[in-house]
Amino acid sequence: MALVRKKIPEKVSHPESIDPTAMLKRLEMNGLLKLPVDVHAVAEYLGLDVKEEAMEDELSGFIEPRNGGWAIGINAFHHPNRQRFTIAHEIGHFLLHKPREKHVDITFARRTGGKNRIENEADSFAAKLLMPEAAVRQLVASGQTSLESLAAYFRVSVMAAKYRVQSLGFAVR
Ligand SMILES: [Zn+2]
Repeated sequence: MALVRKKIPEKVSHPESIDPTAMLKRLEMNGLLKLPVDVHAVAEYLGLDVKEEAMEDELSGFIEPRNGGWAIGINAFHHPNRQRFTIAHEIGHFLLHKPREKHVDITFARRTGGKNRIENEADSFAAKLLMPEAAVRQLVASGQTSLESLAAYFRVSVMAAKYRVQSLGFAVR
């Protein structure tokens, strides 16, 4: 049986050498930022393999060298919306921090606020990728003001939606 599949633009070469802001523009031009953002397609475009793996609950994922390239691992037991954020977070590490070795992300450390600059940068990149500022502002202006509906629209966790709107200067009550 022949199956029809969305065409993914040809992989970009040396994505790690492209400035992350320029990369977001490039993703947009290639139609990869249509909402909700297909992070799997973005990862594929960047040449990153994404695999679900069984992990302890406090681990969200990792990025590691594999087969001469880079692979992202996500916690197979986490909700797909959390997995989406993890993929976007690891893409952030890949583009911003150009890792040289395996980097593992622990959800617990994030929850307790024991975050460092690198983790904040990757989170911020992920939020921008999944919840573009213009789209968030437009939705709120059009009356879509519940965190649950914003989270459902962008397919992220309610917590991720909350951080994003707060980072854009909105108050949450
Ligand atoms: Zn991280």
